[in-house]
Amino acid sequence: MSYIEPAPIKDKENPFESMMKRFKQASHSLGLDDEIYNVLKSPDKQVIVSLPVTMDDGSIRVFEGYRVIHSNILGPTKGGVRYDMGVNLDEVKALAAWMTWKCAVVDIPYGGAKGGIRCNPREMSAGEIERLTRSYTTAMNDIFGPDKDIPAPDMGTGQREMAWMMDEYSRNQGKTVTGVVTGKPLFLGGSLGREEATGRGVMISALAAMERMKINPYKATVAVQGFGNVGSFASLLLEERGAMIVAVSDISGAYYNKNGIDIKKAIEYRNSNGGTMEGFEGAEKIGGSDILTLDVDVLVPAAKEDVITTRNAADIKAKLIVEGANGPTSANADQIINDKGIVVVPDILANAGGVTVSYFEWVQNRLGYKWTRERVNRRSDRTIRAAFSNVWATSEEYGVSLRIAAYIVAIDKVAKAYKFRGGF
Ligand code: GLU
Repeated sequence: MSYIEPAPIKDKENPFESMMKRFKQASHSLGLDDEIYNVLKSPDKQVIVSLPVTMDDGSIRVFEGYRVIHSNILGPTKGGVRYDMGVNLDEVKALAAWMTWKCAVVDIPYGGAKGGIRCNPREMSAGEIERLTRSYTTAMNDIFGPDKDIPAPDMGTGQREMAWMMDEYSRNQGKTVTGVVTGKPLFLGGSLGREEATGRGVMISALAAMERMKINPYKATVAVQGFGNVGSFASLLLEERGAMIVAVSDISGAYYNKNGIDIKKAIEYRNSNGGTMEGFEGAEKIGGSDILTLDVDVLVPAAKEDVITTRNAADIKAKLIVEGANGPTSANADQIINDKGIVVVPDILANAGGVTVSYFEWVQNRLGYKWTRERVNRRSDRTIRAAFSNVWATSEEYGVSLRIAAYIVAIDKVAKAYKFRGGF
């Protein structure tokens, strides 16, 4: 049997349109030339591949894989590969553009790209996922490269998939090329601190915002929607800095404890429970989407796009939203959130810790040298703090939200690179 996974029904507020709305707004504030605007709104390259994979039962299934290169004007392109049933071209395009802005906001010498395969890794065996990953890597052999385009983990992928990608690319090249992928296991050229890097960046930017807003972290309550890599490390590190995590959620539902959830225990429970929080006894189970409207100081959406929309934005009670996920707030919800006076640390700043440490991993691979965890953390914390201050100052200068300020910082840098390089 051979069939192609069906495309999901498109959301009305699709992520590419959401990205474009903010891009337009920031370009307008910046007075960007129409020419540059037209260049930046179109990705450099969009690749779609069909990936036939032999399943464990002997059948062959064909999966659809994507890689979108948004812009390589500032350097080799960088961005994760997502395994999820919701993956589609518009989503990958938006995520690729966000990577361009994200790398520019934290000032690392990369352009933006993103990849994905429409599949449900939860329903696939390790062998099936490995064959799919290798097939995707070979299909992208001419796209990937340590000086061209460097994949990394995203939703549904992690160190295991990165090791397979690195191995497959290396086999095709006839030599071991560690720098082609980041987020690898430690003993295969991975960096200390990479696994927790995105969550750590969320914690650093949350603390920076709380300091400006005069919220005492020791008195702050936090709800974290999404308890995967980003959400769980953000929870753990915020708890370490004194905050009380009163709610977390994952696909099995949301878990609330007004006296605080013991995050170490919650992570241990999840790891020993097939990766979900189902049945967790350290909190009371509440409706999955109710976590977004809890009466907390800080809300960390750390799952995926479009969870804060016009349908629930008016009910949000948090004073501060720190976007661990990419695109969790739809563009149409921005206005409602801003009118309520809620401060949002936008995705392209709040979750940039991951790509920052990916950059350090790539630098270490190229140097053939290993940094200590302290060095990695110190440099990435400094990077996120500097980016936060820059975005905060830009928001005051232009009288815009932190989100539009982050886009202004990024677009300005990328547009200047286009102007100086010229060539069209
Ligand atoms: N997928 C992550 C992101 O969205 C990490 C990308 C990277 O490390 O290249 O930022």
